[in-house]
Amino acid sequence: MNIAYIGLGNMGLPMAHNLIKAGFQVKGFDLSANALKAFATAGGSPCINAADTLEGADVVVTMLPASQHVRSLWLGDSGLLRCLRPGTLLIDSSTIAATAAREVASAAANLGIDMIDAPVSGGTAAAEAGTLTFMVGGTSEQLERARPVLESMGQRVLHAGAIGAGQVAKACNNMLLGIILAGSSEALQLGIAHGLDPKVLSEIISVSTGANWVLSHYNPCPGTLDTAPSARGYTGGFATDLMLKDLGLAVEAATGTGAIVPLGSSARNLFAMHSAAGQGRLDCSSVFQLLAARQS
Ligand code: NAD
Repeated sequence: MNIAYIGLGNMGLPMAHNLIKAGFQVKGFDLSANALKAFATAGGSPCINAADTLEGADVVVTMLPASQHVRSLWLGDSGLLRCLRPGTLLIDSSTIAATAAREVASAAANLGIDMIDAPVSGGTAAAEAGTLTFMVGGTSEQLERARPVLESMGQRVLHAGAIGAGQVAKACNNMLLGIILAGSSEALQLGIAHGLDPKVLSEIISVSTGANWVLSHYNPCPGTLDTAPSARGYTGGFATDLMLKDLGLAVEAATGTGAIVPLGSSARNLFAMHSAAGQGRLDCSSVFQLLAARQS
């Protein structure tokens, strides 16, 4: 099976590498020359533009930053959907708006091309280890076609529903993560303002009704957890700006549905303030610092 891979960044490169290790022929393209060089070193066939990767492709995987990148790659006058053969399977693993996924899928379907949305959870470490979770939107038949490719890059392949449902599931998860991160930071800072040891407070909450994944695996307070980004200056995790993008997608997803997301909106505002303060590239758990007690 010939695979075209477009978007060889922090996530795409290790994911494409796992496809190569699984024995697929993989052609790839990225706007960054460095990414293309790393892809060649990993055993892939680099191309000089996206259209070249599509020649002879049975499956195309995209791992691009945001909705506008996916839309402009496939749609419009210079869109590349027309370069695909009918019957090609398109897997978009970027985190984008569900509306954008549905729009591209509908244009693809008109040309006899199947598309699923398959955003991931797990981050760069899981991308390298091949242990990502895929949240898939599409038909069962489309998912089964994609399964061998997805299982070469991840551990779990979950069917969320029809096209766009994977993106909605991803937005729901990351909205909740943002809310829990902000809430856990707030609780720890309140304890600290009263002189409590944050490590002891984390232990108490972790066996009480406020227990959550952030406190036990991603504690935002430095000195509480050796393996968390907070232990290494908030580097090497999930950037504040990516969290901000995902919270924006969650709030956008609520629009027009009647769903109300007051906590998601508050979390988005909080991470927007943190980003505007110049912390966009730091791991998102650094929002803990924004919530430090002020001198009274
Ligand atoms: P990244 O910025 O490292 O990689 C994106 C790559 O796409 C870049 O190398 C860029 O040069 C390339 N690109 C942009 N436009 C292009 C085009 N038209 N043609 C070819 N290449 C193009 O981002 P990432 O961290 O790999 O994230 C990719 C997606 O995965 C995002 O939607 C992100 O939200 C999502 N995601 C990221 C993580 C994470 O921990 N980094 C976790 C889960 C999901």
